[in-house]
Amino acid sequence: MNTQLRERIAESYARVCEEVAEIATKAGREPESVRVVVVTKGHPVEIAQAAAAAGAHDLAENYPEQGLQKIQEVGTGNGVQWHMIGHVQSRKVRMVVEHYNMLHSLDSMKLARRLDRFAGEMQHKLPVLIQANVSGEASKYGWQAVSEDEKLKLAEDVAELETLPNLEIGGLMTMAPIVSHVDEARPFFERLRRLSERLADEFPKVSWRELSMGMSSDYAGAIQEGATLVRIGSAIVGPRPT
Ligand SMILES: *Cc1c(COP(=O)(O)O)cnc(C)c1O
Repeated sequence: MNTQLRERIAESYARVCEEVAEIATKAGREPESVRVVVVTKGHPVEIAQAAAAAGAHDLAENYPEQGLQKIQEVGTGNGVQWHMIGHVQSRKVRMVVEHYNMLHSLDSMKLARRLDRFAGEMQHKLPVLIQANVSGEASKYGWQAVSEDEKLKLAEDVAELETLPNLEIGGLMTMAPIVSHVDEARPFFERLRRLSERLADEFPKVSWRELSMGMSSDYAGAIQEGATLVRIGSAIVGPRPT
């Protein structure tokens, strides 16, 4: 493996982990309560290998088939977990159930029912996070969760999700809108945390432990609001090749 590349990734991974721990500590949280998920989308396999060699245990991809090659080369040894964080098309459901350890981007009931069916066939329980759109932007996937009506509809769907035997709900995921200043993202993370608290009251048997929120440009505010999984790409692996 390219030594220079390896060193560069190891350095930036360590730096981000340190910063994440520092922000958590300042916010009065245990540094271990925030996991750094390294997003390698659009980058070659060597980058994922370098991240794993640097000690990253959580790697993420947006496109199921692009991640597959990396999963095969990097493997799931050394405790590496693979996260799917992008929209999953119907025909990719089997691949996700078969190869990924967790899906952050559960964004519809249709997808949920299909995942549940495939997971059942494979006698396998798939950990999922419910993607919520707390900004109201039309371009985002996930359950709309801004107005009271939308939150009630989400709760109605959670009642059904809870009954799907082969999915294991672990919490919520969101993407903040692109903002001009980092501080402007924090209110959206606060919304997700509040939504999680509300759902926890209503569905006490479901685990709402995970909050997957925060990316390279906005993870500080996410950690301050309780993120347990931050999905970080460019700050660790560099800008995506175009
Ligand atoms: C690309 C991506 C990330 C990481 O983005 P960076 O800005 O590179 O850190 C996180 N979450 C999702 C859903 C993404 O698509």
